[in-house]
Amino acid sequence: MSDVRIDDLPVRDELRGKSPYGAPQLDVPVRLNTNENPYPLPEPLVERIAERVREAARNLNRYPDRDAVELRTKLAEYLTDTSGHEVGLANVWAANGSNEVIQQLLQTFGGPGRTAIGFEPSYSMHGLIARGTGTGWISGPRNDDFTIDLAAAEKAIAEHRPDVVFITTPNNPTGNAVPPETVLALYEAAQAAKPSMVVVDEAYIEFSHGDSLLPLIDGRPNLVISRTMSKAFGAAGLRLGYLAAHPAVVDAVQLVRLPYHLSAVTQATALAALEHTATLLGYVEQLKAERDRLVRELRAIGYDVVESDANFVQFGRFEDAHTTWQKILDRGVLVRDNGIPGWLRVSAGTPEENDAFLDAVRALKKEQS
Ligand code: PMP
Repeated sequence: MSDVRIDDLPVRDELRGKSPYGAPQLDVPVRLNTNENPYPLPEPLVERIAERVREAARNLNRYPDRDAVELRTKLAEYLTDTSGHEVGLANVWAANGSNEVIQQLLQTFGGPGRTAIGFEPSYSMHGLIARGTGTGWISGPRNDDFTIDLAAAEKAIAEHRPDVVFITTPNNPTGNAVPPETVLALYEAAQAAKPSMVVVDEAYIEFSHGDSLLPLIDGRPNLVISRTMSKAFGAAGLRLGYLAAHPAVVDAVQLVRLPYHLSAVTQATALAALEHTATLLGYVEQLKAERDRLVRELRAIGYDVVESDANFVQFGRFEDAHTTWQKILDRGVLVRDNGIPGWLRVSAGTPEENDAFLDAVRALKKEQS
């Protein structure tokens, strides 16, 4: 049995020789590698989840609400309250993490014979989900400072005429936000070229100095804003992502969603978390302050740091980023090597975790000078 490998199976050609996505899950004292929220859910919320899930358990013999109406209504309220732009149930769709939202979008608007573009380095799952859905992937350009070169991006869109355009803002792994004017210009370029769907991935928007681009969905039916409860809501384990767009987009993704894809337990847990939005957004403010401290201190130590609007910071430059990653790990701190030559990424943790990280890189810098 054990001598049979993936490539011995009749897997699709484009999956041959590939590895699954995944950051190392190592058991070390300080884990700052996957942009999680370091704060456990507050105890009153844990209690409320238990209550809500207990209620849901009484009906687990039945399929869940297939359209997740209560949850989507509450998500719409959250978006309206935080963006000042009114959206309703018909504008919002939810799935198991924004990864599934993205998968459903690519199943709907991409697929065999179609292409999607992202401006890299960016969130690598966009390309991987494209591959998984049979969508051709185009790696668009970025400047050396990781900003989007608008002229080059517009040229790539005009040349390749992709069916889906991904814009991640704030960008992962680099942390910088894309100016709204650039997003609008890329939307126009994508409409002129095809027209195509433009997916703005706002997984980290709650940590940004700037505002969500949500209001831009008005009058732009080909624009989708993708969001998640994994970061700001501190609920990566919940698996709840959502999108806001024109109601026609919400109708379209329902053509590919699996029936009852969001379990009753997931819906109950997410609803409980949304009842505690104010407390959870309080943690976001602390994390933003810690993120700004990381930027300042890393610069003071002498590292190059990319301006960050997210809950993580990209820093460098290293002759050999992987060796440095290992040296930081040897000091008990796990950061992320995304394979971008010269750079590493650290997620903002609790003040104590960030101190441990800063002590580690300070010691490294001393060792090297
Ligand atoms: N988009 C971006 C830019 C991300 O960094 C992540 C998580 N790392 C996701 C989407 C996926 O988040 P989730 O599936 O947990 O909602």
